[in-house]
Amino acid sequence: MMNKQPRHILGLSGGKDSAALAVYMRDRVPEMEYVFTDTQKELPETYDFLAKLEAYLGKPVIRLNADRGFDHWLQVYGGYLPSSRMRWCTRQLKLKPFEQYVGDGDVVSYVGIRADEDREGYISTKPNIRARFPFKEDGLVHADILRILEESGLGLPDYYKWRTRSGCYFCFFQRKSEWAGLLEHHPDLYEKAKAYEKVDPETGQRYTWQSGESLEELAKPQRLVQIRTRSDARPARPSGTLAEVLSDEDEAPCAICTI
Ligand code: SF4
Repeated sequence: MMNKQPRHILGLSGGKDSAALAVYMRDRVPEMEYVFTDTQKELPETYDFLAKLEAYLGKPVIRLNADRGFDHWLQVYGGYLPSSRMRWCTRQLKLKPFEQYVGDGDVVSYVGIRADEDREGYISTKPNIRARFPFKEDGLVHADILRILEESGLGLPDYYKWRTRSGCYFCFFQRKSEWAGLLEHHPDLYEKAKAYEKVDPETGQRYTWQSGESLEELAKPQRLVQIRTRSDARPARPSGTLAEVLSDEDEAPCAICTI
């Protein structure tokens, strides 16, 4: 007889909310499949955090890789770096591998959107996927997520010390101060990100991660001072740096990459 039970899948982004959801659901849905769509361009801190999470969950986090990586798709898209208007990276490296993994059977997909957020997150249009939002259903907000992670012993991924969200090291959604953070914490990755930027010798058109400024320009000492000064000048939030960093994450524009 055919098994009609749906599969239960929780997509991890490497960020705090989906990790907290994994912790929250571990004993509620023991058959849960935990998956991480790995662009292979993630931060080392993300991979470290996933390893800790695996130990806590007591089962492997299934890594989903796109059949072809970022560099292949960059070629397909004519060398155009992805941007908020042309976000081919999310489609090719995150959504497609996830949907392929899900297949055509019935699936319940668990999403870590909190009760204090009004974004919807990634909801597949595949009819066999039903989304559930346990934090919303149970009224869990930002402070609850921090508590869940702290009580589990996992804490937060280390990159939160200098960056507001998970995702690829070269993600174009980064702020200037986060690019400066990448340069400081991972100069090798900064160099790799820089190597993707090009100038068309014929037209002079620049292909940069951020409009109007190349990573070479951003890395100039004076510019770095300016960026850091501006970032320090932001109004302080009540409970210091961590709260500041985490409140900022609420603006995350890349739902599947950052939840
Ligand atoms: S994290 Fe950023 S660069 Fe990576 S897939 Fe998502 S939107 Fe694209």
